[in-house]
Amino acid sequence: MRPTPTVRAQAAALALLSILIFSVVARSAELPILPGTTTTASATSIVGKVIVIDPGHGGEDPGFLATDTVREKDIVLAIGLQLRRLLEEAGAIVVMTRESDEDLASEEEDRLGARKASDLRRRAEVSNRVGADAFISIHANAINSPRWYGAQTFYDPRKGERDALLAAAVQQVFVEMTDTTRRPLRRQNIYLMEAVEAPAVTVEVGFLSNPRERELLSTGQYQRRVAWAMLKSLLEWFASDTIGVTGSGPN
Ligand SMILES: [Zn+2]
Repeated sequence: MRPTPTVRAQAAALALLSILIFSVVARSAELPILPGTTTTASATSIVGKVIVIDPGHGGEDPGFLATDTVREKDIVLAIGLQLRRLLEEAGAIVVMTRESDEDLASEEEDRLGARKASDLRRRAEVSNRVGADAFISIHANAINSPRWYGAQTFYDPRKGERDALLAAAVQQVFVEMTDTTRRPLRRQNIYLMEAVEAPAVTVEVGFLSNPRERELLSTGQYQRRVAWAMLKSLLEWFASDTIGVTGSGPN
């Protein structure tokens, strides 16, 4: 059974709806493709949910270096900060694993191998400590060929159906809002996906090894579109996620 909404929740929902409508209208000039299909039901489903945004890498770990100035760690942080703003406007509670150019390793972890392990462990701890409802890790892909392009979502199938459905929701919106035709990918043994208790996905937002996608991902406008895609998919996933509402299911 869903709990009966309180008057306060209804007021919050109305406020949220007007914010969303305003946001869509206000940004229509700068966003060619808009999440215009957002419904009242999906808009209210995210109010009060705790969402952890994990921009990958940071500090000494730049991630993929496309050029001296185009670095994975900067692009994923910019997208993460855009997403935080959108989610907070929608009424969600957002926790960032990092909000500046730093990693989460402890000072003693100087050897790079140990440093990376400590960094990832702490990212998972952030999520588990706040009891996240969803965890979204943001990365950018790179491969030894300029031809590959397109955002892709990864999840650990052993964690359960909610993770799979979250990955499917995210990928579906990326197919609608960007030119990717990829499908969500199951991948086991990703430490972070396993260690995070909440439903978790890693979104590789595109290939920095592809010149066109690298160009797009370097612009604020495309970074906003990627953040919009993540917002829309989270709204849709929370709206359809009955297990999270009742708290009675696995995972
Ligand atoms: Zn990465």
